[in-house]
Amino acid sequence: MSNAYDAMWEKLNLDLEAHEGLLGVLGQFYGDIYMSQQGRLKGMEYMDFVLSEVHGLRIKELQDAKASGRKVIGTFCVFVPEELVLAAGGIQVGLCAGAEIGKTEAEKVLPRNTCALIKSFVGFKLARLCPYIESCDLIVGETTCDGKKKAYEIFADYAPLYVMEVPQMKTASDRALWKSEVLRYKEKVEEITGNKITAAGLKDAIHLVNERRRVLQRLNRLRAAVPSPISGRDALLINQISFYDDPVRFTTKIGELCNELEERVKSGTGVAPEGTVRLMLSGCPMAVPNWKLPYIVESSGAIIVGEESCIGTRNTRDLTEEAGGTVDEMLEALADRYMKIDCACFTPNTERLENIVEMARGLNVKGVIHYGLSFCQPYLMEAYKVEKALNKAGIPMLSIETDYSMEDVEQLKTRVEAFVEMTR
Ligand code: SF4
Ligand code: SF4
Repeated sequence: MSNAYDAMWEKLNLDLEAHEGLLGVLGQFYGDIYMSQQGRLKGMEYMDFVLSEVHGLRIKELQDAKASGRKVIGTFCVFVPEELVLAAGGIQVGLCAGAEIGKTEAEKVLPRNTCALIKSFVGFKLARLCPYIESCDLIVGETTCDGKKKAYEIFADYAPLYVMEVPQMKTASDRALWKSEVLRYKEKVEEITGNKITAAGLKDAIHLVNERRRVLQRLNRLRAAVPSPISGRDALLINQISFYDDPVRFTTKIGELCNELEERVKSGTGVAPEGTVRLMLSGCPMAVPNWKLPYIVESSGAIIVGEESCIGTRNTRDLTEEAGGTVDEMLEALADRYMKIDCACFTPNTERLENIVEMARGLNVKGVIHYGLSFCQPYLMEAYKVEKALNKAGIPMLSIETDYSMEDVEQLKTRVEAFVEMTR
């Protein structure tokens, strides 16, 4: 079946047939998981539209921006400071990596016991499936976990790659290393975009990214209401879309959606039936179209009211200090803000344990589901300490280890249902 965007995708060197298969699966998944929900907010129509055009209109916007001289920079991790890209007139897109479709290609170059997220981004590139990857003038990796670090060495043979060094501890020397990495990256962004980052440009960019974080914080506060006015699936989708939509448009649209949520909260209208169990997710990021676990949870008598994840509060909790006047003051503020990220790649990582307990208490949840991708050592190992900290606070936790395949859906459903019953 031909598509209005075929010529654009062909120009981007996508494998049109395989890509059509991907869009077919995505559409079907979205229909089953999202469109089947009752009582959705009017504001979610924008998200439905953005997702329906995820490889169409947004890619066209990127191509138009590129034609006018702007550069597109792709990232895989919330450690890469978007503010620098925006300040240099570029566009940053999160490269999603939430589907299994390129797995066979990926396993030709990666060991089978690699996490699904890494296999997904390598597979998307090798199978020529992702118009975002193909639109990038630069792709930025980071030395977070060993899997990613080594996979980037292979990925670099196929795409223009730059790697930021993220420290593994939070001592003064780690902070100094990180600041020097932020500086090194600033120079790289200036080289790629051909634009010098000025104080005024950086100030605006810091404010813009903070505004997007503020609107997502507002969303989080509103969904914490009892009863919760929005499903966990919809809130996750909003967070996922925040990584690649235009930041100004996205912030406006989510502001409108929050107004609608406020009305629901005022009138005490919940999205789920009375008695639905409130749960929180914690762990590895869930990139588009990885909606498997939220769907299972929300079809098992529970509602998700928060995600302690990079596609969730880890990305929005901390703002960058906006008071700085010079470029260097603002780079310091950026370095400080990003060093607060409590990724499981850090050791020790007690901040994360404290943040999870505080979040679970604040959200008034009955339990936490810890989500770890198979072969993800940082998160799977840290699950032990997370469970201990939660249990000490009297909050039960269920630890789930899975990947992107659908083979374990029934088994997961049985475990989640038993957990929901136990927390009642
Ligand atoms: S979980 Fe860690 S490595 Fe993954 S996106 Fe978040 S900060 Fe980056
Ligand atoms: S999920 Fe775990 S193993 Fe996979 S990229 Fe993230 S930190 Fe690394």
